[in-house]
Amino acid sequence: MEKGIEENYDVVIIGAGHAGCEAALAAARLGLETIVFTVSADSIAFMPCNPHVGGTSKGHLVRELDALGGEMGHNIDKTFIQSKMLNESKGPAVHSLRAQADKHAYSCAMRKTLENTPHLSIRQAEVSELITEIIPQEPEKKTEKTEKAEKAERTEKPEKESRDQNQILRKCTGVKTVSGAVYHAKAVVLATGVYLNARCLFGEVREYTGPNGLKSAVYLTDSLKANGIIMYRFKTGTPARVDGRTVDFSKMKEQMGDIPVVPFSFDTDPADVQKKQVSCWLTHTGAEAAKIIRENIDRSPLYNGSIKSTGPRYCPSIEDKVMKFPDKDSHQIFVEPEGMNTHEMYLDGMSSSLPEDVQYRVIHSVPGLEHASVVRNAYAIEYDCIDARQLSASLEFKNISGLFAGGQFNGSSGYEEAAAQGFMAGVNAAMLVSGRKPFVIDRSEGYIGVLIDDLVTKESHEPYRMMTSRSEYRLLLRQDNADLRLSGIGHKIGLVSDEKFEKVTKKETEIRNEITRLKNTTVGATKNMQEWLSEHRSTPLKKGSTLAEIICRPELNYFMLTDIDAERPLLDRETAEQVNINIKYEGYIHRQEQQVRQFQKMEGKLLPADFDYGTVGSLRLEAIQKLNKVRPRSIGQASRISGVSPADITVLLVNLEAGKIRQISEDENGGKKG
Ligand SMILES: Cc1cc2nc3c(=O)[nH]c(=O)nc-3n(C[C@H](O)[C@H](O)[C@H](O)COP(=O)(O)OP(=O)(O)OC[C@H]3O[C@@H](n4cnc5c(N)ncnc54)[C@H](O)[C@@H]3O)c2cc1C
Repeated sequence: MEKGIEENYDVVIIGAGHAGCEAALAAARLGLETIVFTVSADSIAFMPCNPHVGGTSKGHLVRELDALGGEMGHNIDKTFIQSKMLNESKGPAVHSLRAQADKHAYSCAMRKTLENTPHLSIRQAEVSELITEIIPQEPEKKTEKTEKAEKAERTEKPEKESRDQNQILRKCTGVKTVSGAVYHAKAVVLATGVYLNARCLFGEVREYTGPNGLKSAVYLTDSLKANGIIMYRFKTGTPARVDGRTVDFSKMKEQMGDIPVVPFSFDTDPADVQKKQVSCWLTHTGAEAAKIIRENIDRSPLYNGSIKSTGPRYCPSIEDKVMKFPDKDSHQIFVEPEGMNTHEMYLDGMSSSLPEDVQYRVIHSVPGLEHASVVRNAYAIEYDCIDARQLSASLEFKNISGLFAGGQFNGSSGYEEAAAQGFMAGVNAAMLVSGRKPFVIDRSEGYIGVLIDDLVTKESHEPYRMMTSRSEYRLLLRQDNADLRLSGIGHKIGLVSDEKFEKVTKKETEIRNEITRLKNTTVGATKNMQEWLSEHRSTPLKKGSTLAEIICRPELNYFMLTDIDAERPLLDRETAEQVNINIKYEGYIHRQEQQVRQFQKMEGKLLPADFDYGTVGSLRLEAIQKLNKVRPRSIGQASRISGVSPADITVLLVNLEAGKIRQISEDENGGKKG
């Protein structure tokens, strides 16, 4: 009998989207033999929707990823065509970098990086099956209360019947492709994005493909279900694209990029990103568009019941905006180039699944788009994904060892959210294979921690999108200090070079020294000083004051004091910015640091992964249900589970103190940093 293809790898990555690329690069850069599968090798790091990387809170994710040793920041610095720092009129916590990519160049540059990475192979093939083994175990003895809680859950949510299946422990040892080829692996990462059983819809049209007509993956879901994984179905949508040569820009407002450009990656020399940028254009829909949409709303699959899955609340379609805000006749549309080698333009704000003829009429009702020629229709896409509460904080399935997941597959939305999770899943796959501790970032260390903690802790019935308001410590987790917060961790994992780490350490020292100098340098209420203050519309000094105190005045900052601070050392712009922020916001920063210490205390109270909460008297049935489902790693995580009340947390704390819940060490709990 002929033998099919059979190969061995350390790590298999299923998917070469934004999550899969980061996962594959992380694992391969850590020296593990890695293979990444994609249904199309021509669409690696493909951007099927908006042309941006970054934006509010998403920019934070990219910078954190960069500080840890990820690739997205480098890739967008090579391929951006416009760049902006958003929210600059607000406080530094919400400043967010956003760059518009040349989509084709972005994809090509990432592919090149993958191809040039040692230990990494790219394979175009559809993975159809997981190879798993059942791990024999003693049958779990359940308390009467636990049985009751599970029965109540099955009655409430009959679709979750596979829960019992889910409790069988398995180990993932590889994958099979549709051709029957077998790829053995010590760890597997699922990063299938929007491709599993994907279905694209607009009007009456149904196409069973992934985005842009790319092949969907139709077999893997069954294999995942057979392994006890509970699947969800989500949807998202994209707007039409038009030919820029048919757009009348004279009726639109020009939106230009920033000068100077701030690079995404801390490694990029700012001089290298000062290049010619493209303009985007702002226009608005009007009463006519709203009328056309209302008259045809029953032809939208979103409204006529054809789409049952839920979409991202924060990226509503144009029909959603019109129907949900009937008093608002006008909605912003940004017309954005898709790249340097195409005339195709993206109509940001006009995502839709209306029929083609309605889309045309809506587009042509918009000032400047009256004669626009449509290149691609808008459409919605439905796909299979998971309830990420099946994962632990390291993104490994709780009941399938060696199987990790990242990206849109975990119920998130967005390139940056995908990349951040993909990186963490790839690193943790590598940690497992190398016998190192799982690597977890907590909520006080980064937005990446917030993202993953939210996904694995909180039930969500819609695609999860990152927002600055999701972080409790956003004054500490700024995009400008991501290198200072996370490069040390990246270095410890092995993905940040000694050279990069030394650069960050030097920056830290310079910041500390300069803050000390400013706090110890006093200026008197001299005539010169009073004149300088008056020139800068600041009140005169009553007595001598330190330079730090002067910087704290709302109308002044570190940069403005250059003329009166002769002893100032020469610092680069980023270092000086840190000095300024740390001095101006010192009080707030200290307060948040105190809150972080409180938070860490609760995160440090570890809970055993195999504990049956039904054995704890005075816990409510709902709390038992939720705690047994999530199996939180700490009291801190337990407190964020919806359905677990502060009173339940007190019960857990009392039981933990009394030794009724077994106290465990960091090692037993899976460890923390790499
Ligand atoms: C129509 C549309 C609209 C969107 N709108 C927005 C938006 O407005 N805002 C936003 O932030 N995000 C939007 N997104 C989402 C954005 O595209 C995703 O968040 C991002 O691409 C997810 O990255 P990912 O790596 O998780 O998955 P993807 O980029 O989807 O990549 C998945 C990868 O997995 C591969 N794959 C899947 N299954 C298999 C298999 N069985 N075998 C082998 N390979 C497999 C695919 O080939 C692909 O390489 C939209 C996506 C689409 C399609």
